[in-house]
Formats: sequence, C-alpha cells, structure tokens
Amino acid sequence: MTSVLSVASEVFPLVKTGGLADVTGALPLALEPLGVSVRTLMPAYPSVMAELGDAEPVAALPDLFGGPARILSVRHAGLDLLLLDAPHLFDRPGGPYVGPNGYDHPDNWARFAALGKAAAEIGLGLIESYRPDIVHAHDWQAALAPVYLDAAGGERPRTVITIHNLAFQGAFPQTIFPELGLPETFWGIDGVEYYGSVGFLKGGLRAADRITTVSPNYAGEILQPAGGMGLDGLLRGRADRLVGIVNGIDTSVWDPATDPHIAASFTRDDLFRRSLNKRALEAEFSLEEDESPLLAVVSRLTWQKGLDILADCVDDVVAAGCRLVVVGSGDRLLEGAFLSGAARHAGRVGVRIGYDELLSHRVQAGADALLVPSRFEPCGLTQLYALRYGCLPVVSRVGGLADTVIDANFAALAASAATGIVFAPVTREALLDGLTRLTRLYADAPTWRDIQRSAMSSDVSWTASARRYADLYSSLSEESTR
Ligand code: ADP
Repeated sequence: MTSVLSVASEVFPLVKTGGLADVTGALPLALEPLGVSVRTLMPAYPSVMAELGDAEPVAALPDLFGGPARILSVRHAGLDLLLLDAPHLFDRPGGPYVGPNGYDHPDNWARFAALGKAAAEIGLGLIESYRPDIVHAHDWQAALAPVYLDAAGGERPRTVITIHNLAFQGAFPQTIFPELGLPETFWGIDGVEYYGSVGFLKGGLRAADRITTVSPNYAGEILQPAGGMGLDGLLRGRADRLVGIVNGIDTSVWDPATDPHIAASFTRDDLFRRSLNKRALEAEFSLEEDESPLLAVVSRLTWQKGLDILADCVDDVVAAGCRLVVVGSGDRLLEGAFLSGAARHAGRVGVRIGYDELLSHRVQAGADALLVPSRFEPCGLTQLYALRYGCLPVVSRVGGLADTVIDANFAALAASAATGIVFAPVTREALLDGLTRLTRLYADAPTWRDIQRSAMSSDVSWTASARRYADLYSSLSEESTR
C-alpha cells in the first residue's frame, strides 16, 4: 500500500472556494480502492474546528511561525484528515485567504509557509508510526512542503506538486525570506527566489520530484510563454517531470439519478423528467416559462473566466431568444454588468450574486446549456458536472475544456460523439457564433437529446485519472531519495 500525505488549503466538503477543494476531497476516495492510502493535511479554520473540534491531537509543533500548533487527526466524509490547529494563524474571521474586509490576510505568507512546514515535519516522522511514502502538495498554499523537504536533505518522502491554476503563485516580498527558516542557498534561482520576490509556487515547482497539472492540454499550454505566466522557462527545464492528469468529479455527489438537491431526479433514459428541473429553475429566478434555451453560468466572476465577454453579449443572447441564469461572485464590475443585464431583461435574465453550492446543483439540472468562455482553464469542473447532468457545455477551446468536451461538429454528430459546443478564439464573435450553433441544435430536438445522452455517458469519474496518480506514486516511491 502506498501512503500519501496530501496537503491543501481547501478540501470539500469542509472548505471550498473553487475546484481545488473538489479535487482534494474526491481524489483520496478514488485512490483507496487502488491501494493508495491518503491522509490529508489542511488548516483548522474556525469552521473546521466548529465541526471537528473533538479531533484527536497526534503531534505538537511548539513554535510554528510565532505560536504553538497541534496536529489533530479525524475521519470525516470518508477522508482521513490531519488538521493544522494553529490559532495564531487560522483562528480568525474571514475566508481561507481573505479577511472580512475583502483583502488578503496580511500574513498569508506565514499561514501557508506553516502549512508547508508542518507537512514536511509530518513527512519526516513528526507523527508517531506514520511515515508517508509521498508528500503531495496542491497549489502555492502547500508549495513549500517539497521545498522544506528538499532543504531537510537525507532520507525523505518523495514529493509531488500539482498546479491547479498557475495564475495564483503566492509571491511575497523578499523581506519574508529570513523568516522562512530555509538555508541561505534557497535565496536564488534554484530556490524560492522569483524575480526578487519569494515565490512559493516557483519554489515548489523547483523542488518537487514530480509536477502534475490538471489536464494534458494545460500541461502543454504552460510550457509556452503565452500560458506559462512567467514560469514557462522553469517548467520547460523540468518538462520530463511534468504530466497532465485530467480531473474527475465525485460521481456520487454529482448524480442526477440520486441528487437530493434537485426537483426531479433523471437519467439519460428518462430525460423528459429533466424539464421539471427547468420549470423549477425558471420559478426560482422569476423567468418567463417557455421552451426557449435556458443558458447558465456558475462561476467565479473573473477575467480568467471570460465572463466580461458574455456580459457584453447579454442583449444579443436575449435577442437570439435565449434566457440566461448567472450564479457567481467576484469582480464587482462584472457583478454589476450582469445585474444590470437582469434589470434590462426581467423575465429573461436572472442573476444571483454569491456562492451557493446547492443552487449550483439545481442550475446544472435545470439549464439547457452551461457557458464556460474561459481565457484559460487548467481543467474546469463545472463543464464536467454539466456533462453529467445533460446541461450541454459551451466552452472555449483552452486547457482542460478542450480535453473534456467534444464539439458538435459534422463529424462528431455523424459519429454520435458530440457532447457540447467548443468555440475559438475567446472573442465576442466566436462566442455568439457558438451560441448560434447551439440554438440551431436545440431546435432539432432528437439531435439535442442524442447530444445530451452522449454528454451524460461521458466518463467524468475519477476512475481513469486516479489510476494515473496511483501509477505516478508507485513509480516515484520506488526511486531512492539520495
Ligand atoms: P475554479 O476552480 O477556477 O473556480 P472550476 O470549474 O475548476 O473553477 O471549479 C469551480 C467550482 O466551484 C465548481 O465546483 C463550481 O460548481 C463551484 N462554483 C463556482 N462558483 C460558484 C457559485 N457562485 N456557487 C456555487 N458553486 C460555485
């Protein structure tokens, strides 16, 4: 049995701000039947302590970045969790990354350096009779784990780092370097230095034994200057260590046949029942009830997601006879743009600003199509939920979107392989062209149903990808650390 310590700043169902949590919450469950036992280290945020405060202390770190810390162990939602209980770093109001004022916690560098440091200590035997073979760090928040392990030298677990989004790199001023407790030699191009700053992700990508990212296509994109966000040179130098493994989804949480959060369950064999969910969604958003295509967005509202382009097209979407539901939060300008679209088109456009997990299920079950016009998208999970719920994804041809959706072009339709619409480039014209193709397909009900059935038959589970992680871990754990 390979033993893996997974390290992450968010884990579903406890703390989630995006796709990272879905992955760190679901992958361990998919690995277990493959002979990989995963323990997951995450910060003990107040909401986590409120739910799991009776967890058992298994180790202590008397001085972790300015205060005492404990490691607590608990099983929850099928996960074997280790909680980093460091009140001076994590017991405070706000989200995992931002305070109640909407700004980043000013000591995020210490909070997540502590996460990496604790992971490294656990990797080196801090918890009695626990020695993982692999320490697997997710994103910049965990990226110092491989760096601290590298700095420790000697016998150590092998390390993997996964890039869920290269846009978030954890860059901090040079002045924090002495506080990290790393050897002087780690200030430099081969360490954590990144153009005069401390780069957490950069350091992790340098130090880890293997680098993964969340789709094969994104693995190629980040090697190019256009997609590499300043790290393409480093990544090209380590390309033999880089692999893209597409994300799956938890198909028991996301299953239209059993989903308790939707008005009517359905399968690909009784798709007519799906319309009950469409009616419910129309009612929830005070939309006119009709048979026109109901388009949806469930997303962070950011430039990355290309939603400024959609916001620009709201009038065209309505003029084309479609209705639109938007669930999301983020960029204030974008929120305002969608809200004003809803005000202009009452009954045709509905907007909910905020984050609502259960509403996202109702949207996937009731809308006809999900729009994901991202400028870049490492993997994307919403289009995978959409496929599973027969809500046809309309996606830009980037990153993992291109790896997971089969465009309804002539050949794909002839082969009954199409699962959605893929458009390029990410422009207003191409998006509108994609929507025109969508409305034509929608008008052809038998073809639309065929595409829905193919979408719902797509393998979006973790099965194949968990196998790839398991193979990666086992090949790595056979390598020596010296
Ligand atoms: P990213 O991680 O870049 O935000 P992904 O598509 O990989 O994008 O994952 C986003 C996750 O967050 C999905 O599970 C999606 O359903 C969820 N999500 C995003 N915005 C909202 C929202 N406003 N309400 C509910 N869920 C949301």
